[in-house]
Amino acid sequence: MNSETRPEHFAWSEEGKWKWIARVGWKGLCPRCGKGPLFQGWLKVRESCPVCGLDYRFATPDDGPAFFALCLTAFPLIFFVVWLEVAYAPPWWVHVITSGPLMALGTVASLRPFKGWLVASQYVNRAEEAGTEDLARRIDRRD
Ligand SMILES: [Zn+2]
Repeated sequence: MNSETRPEHFAWSEEGKWKWIARVGWKGLCPRCGKGPLFQGWLKVRESCPVCGLDYRFATPDDGPAFFALCLTAFPLIFFVVWLEVAYAPPWWVHVITSGPLMALGTVASLRPFKGWLVASQYVNRAEEAGTEDLARRIDRRD
């Protein structure tokens, strides 16, 4: 990467890091420059940022997005489904055409913003797995 094209580090300092994490995470943008895309396809993280060159190998959200999609999306939807059943006792096919698609779409749709948020949070807070300190230094995110 050419140092002249390297954007200002700590781009989040203007708006505060929590706002930055929420914004770039929600939009699926690079956590360093906030301009390049983080994802290639729906959930696959790119190898690096095409704008600033940030190496995305540090990004290891693992099961985090699934956990948050389950806790923050699926559980509220389950309450809705239970309420629907208790309040109206609809025939089974109502659940097939409403509850099933609602649960599937809700959880799948929220995976990407949760993953973007976790990756941005990892980068901004400099979280890393034990034993990956050398990798973090090599991908040049400590300067
Ligand atoms: Zn970038």
